Amino acid sequence: MTSPFSDTELCVKCGLCLPHCPTYGKTLDENESPRGRLSLIQAWAEGRLEATPILLGHVDNCLLCRSCESACPANVPYGRLVDDFRLATADKAAKPLAAKFKSAAVVYTLQSPKLQRWSGPVRGMLAKTGLMQATGLDELAAGLPKPFQHSQWQGVHPAVGQETARVALFLGCTAELADAETVTAAIRLLTRLGVSVTVPPDQACCGAMALHAGDGAGFARMRQRNLEAFAASGVTAILSLASGCGAVLKEYPGNPGFADKIMDISSFLAAHPWPRHLRLESLSAKVLVHSPCSLKNVLKSECSPPELLRRIPGLQVELPPSNSVMCCGAAGTYLLDHQDMAHALREDLLDNIVVCLPDYVATSNVGCAMHLRAGLKQRGMDHIPVLHPLVLLEKQLRAQ
Ligand code: SF4
Ligand code: SF4
Repeated sequence: MTSPFSDTELCVKCGLCLPHCPTYGKTLDENESPRGRLSLIQAWAEGRLEATPILLGHVDNCLLCRSCESACPANVPYGRLVDDFRLATADKAAKPLAAKFKSAAVVYTLQSPKLQRWSGPVRGMLAKTGLMQATGLDELAAGLPKPFQHSQWQGVHPAVGQETARVALFLGCTAELADAETVTAAIRLLTRLGVSVTVPPDQACCGAMALHAGDGAGFARMRQRNLEAFAASGVTAILSLASGCGAVLKEYPGNPGFADKIMDISSFLAAHPWPRHLRLESLSAKVLVHSPCSLKNVLKSECSPPELLRRIPGLQVELPPSNSVMCCGAAGTYLLDHQDMAHALREDLLDNIVVCLPDYVATSNVGCAMHLRAGLKQRGMDHIPVLHPLVLLEKQLRAQ
């Protein structure tokens, strides 16, 4: 039987991926590069190296941003290889107790809407005991947006006027806690464009954090729940609001019918014909658009958010310089487990924000939004709102 790691042989060691790798850029250490990590995985798979803490650490330091895949001329399936490696070595990856506590607290909270409702009082309690600061969870909390009141999302939201399409919405496990304004704006915007929106009530977390942490059983459970929840929706497209979730849903193994329907919401909105009578009100402001790695390197939809925002008359749409790596360093729970690297990468992006001085920062992934919000707060720049591009679009539509 072919080993799942035989694709490491596809790497021709050309090094074209190196300038695109955030961890190599910061360390200039070959072991922290895509080429180096592939060599380590290959040596382990062939029995030439043991899965020592040092080897596991080099692979664990990878953000799974997949910039290397986009640059690779040999089409090495880097992300799949790292996920398979982490699944195969999960029992050997001994994390310190504090790191285990942090990851478990975040993952369980995100997977449970009930726990999320309790997260405010729990945060208060942890802050009193000093545990929030000691574990770095205080920074995660600093990235939460202001509480947003909304009505029930689950169920069917009929199109306003003539129905032109039917879609389902994937909420993501952080919707209630960290992305309520985005979900509400998405439903309002889509229905006004003539799109009926179904929000299946039984959907679960996409499973990204379980998959990337090597928890194969947890990932399979969430995948199955989502496949069942969306099977009955009878829609032509399933829209994700957070590109990190969309990227995982798009690659659910063995379910091409489901994967074909997954679209980032901005791609759908950019391709869908807007009714002629709907106009966006002008906005005299500047927005800096950050492209999450999952949107760029997996969903390949990075052009859609700026294209949509340029439809707002008067809005100046800026992008970070094309020669910059610009991974913000959030990467799921990476910002908790690898704080130094996550901060160093965020600093580069914050420097760009300082130079650009926008009125808004727009990003299509809730994890990036939280990480950037916390960074702006640290720099005393939290007057700059960080939001999903479609929140701005919906506001300007409502303003007409
Ligand atoms: S996924 Fe990102 S961090 Fe990991 S090796 Fe590739 S470019 Fe580097
Ligand atoms: S670009 Fe592809 S083939 Fe070249 S070193 Fe990187 S992973 Fe290997």
